[in-house]
Amino acid sequence: MRSDLNLCVFCGSSLGADPAYAAAAADLGAELARRGIGLVYGGASVGLMGAVADAALGAGGEVVGVLPEALADLEIAHGGLTELRIVASMHERKAQMAALSAGFVALPGGVGTLEETFEVWTWSQLGIHAKPVGLLNVNGFYDGLEAFLDHMAEQRFVKPVHRAIMASDADPAALIDRLLAADIPTDRKWVDELKP
Ligand code: AMP
Repeated sequence: MRSDLNLCVFCGSSLGADPAYAAAAADLGAELARRGIGLVYGGASVGLMGAVADAALGAGGEVVGVLPEALADLEIAHGGLTELRIVASMHERKAQMAALSAGFVALPGGVGTLEETFEVWTWSQLGIHAKPVGLLNVNGFYDGLEAFLDHMAEQRFVKPVHRAIMASDADPAALIDRLLAADIPTDRKWVDELKP
């Protein structure tokens, strides 16, 4: 991949109920391409995954897909990517997607999307990497989740400084700006000092 900056997008392998989700995926893909930012994603041609990749490619962007062998048929590998990496496992997929990317965006999605997004967020919290993460909150899709994340922080299971790593915006361009400007804290994870 030639871009020196890549962002990773996690998103549903379904289109969801609201056509606004696919429209937002397309806006995000086109915006990445317009800025010369490479797209790293799960490599499928279906659902919002296909929508973001098609839009980035259509706008002249570079797209790397990382797809586990076992899902290559199920998620129907995208045939037109700049690069398609077929890997052995989900763990290898996530490790490669994270290593290739300077930050992460979650479009609306299901369990897989949340799992991937929370993993990279915990890696920033633990200092395994120091990369920004953001929710593209299309039509309030993530409002309920954000309220719960605030609740976790209020209940002192998450430090405010770590809660703040998870950005959110309804607008793709604004969210990308926030991720590019983010300063990931190096505070220790623990809310309370551990005492013997
Ligand atoms: P979903 O949001 O459930 O539609 O899934 C979005 C993407 O996440 C799909 O490419 C799934 O294959 C992927 N996915 C689901 N579970 C996992 C997992 N445990 N680790 C990595 N990717 C996953």
